[in-house]
Amino acid sequence: MFLKMAIRLGIKHQLFSFSPTHCVMLGYQPKLNNYSAISRTALASTFYSFTISRDYALQYKGDTYILDLDNIIQKMQKYSKGRLPIRIIGFPAYAYFLMQSLQQKGIKLSLPKGSKILFGGGWKQFGADEIAKEELYGMIKETLGIDSMNIHEFFGAAEHPILYCSCPNKHFHIPDYARVIIRNVKTLEALPYGHVGLVNLLTPVQSNIPIISIMTDDLGIVHEGKTCGCGIDNDYLEILGRVGVADIKTCTAGAKDYLGGK
Ligand SMILES: [Zn+2]
Repeated sequence: MFLKMAIRLGIKHQLFSFSPTHCVMLGYQPKLNNYSAISRTALASTFYSFTISRDYALQYKGDTYILDLDNIIQKMQKYSKGRLPIRIIGFPAYAYFLMQSLQQKGIKLSLPKGSKILFGGGWKQFGADEIAKEELYGMIKETLGIDSMNIHEFFGAAEHPILYCSCPNKHFHIPDYARVIIRNVKTLEALPYGHVGLVNLLTPVQSNIPIISIMTDDLGIVHEGKTCGCGIDNDYLEILGRVGVADIKTCTAGAKDYLGGK
């Protein structure tokens, strides 16, 4: 089921590439005893292309992970002289750090035709560094020559095996096989369109554990599908961020603080 879903999503969003592709992973180099869900998701996204190389920004050295952007930059400089497309896959926070590093070094690249960026995973512990999507996309256009049509974002959760891929207007439309309920942070009552609350994800498509409904610690809004204007009628989910980024408490307590601070 997951494979079928991933294939349909890949076709719909034109993610497949039959050209050999260099993958630059802005995430963790997998190792046997730390094969986290996010590493697996990132690795799975390389499935959309015929991958001939994978370079990881977070290298496992000694017994810890080191962020090695210089290595990534050197590889990107090398690959951008060739014709094969490059796919940059991973966390937006690391993409931001990569763009900053390129700008500080005064490096501008023009990635080969067909290059794409696939984002997933949010800003997590780098919530304080988060910049507006438009600003990040502007930096990417400026330093790598990739326009926003070639930047795709994914949203998902380990316990909710549904892939949400951004539409051309960068919205996460809710797939047919999932439902999203936004809940009041105090009463957990379902909220109508346009209201901020805790994101409750539901799907019957789950074969590894018997869960159909999960409460996340994300705050979000559900918008009526037709207001997007991209042609997809399914409602779309806007994620505002994870509650209690620096110090995750119980979902509702953290959400209350977050809302109170706004
Ligand atoms: Zn849309």
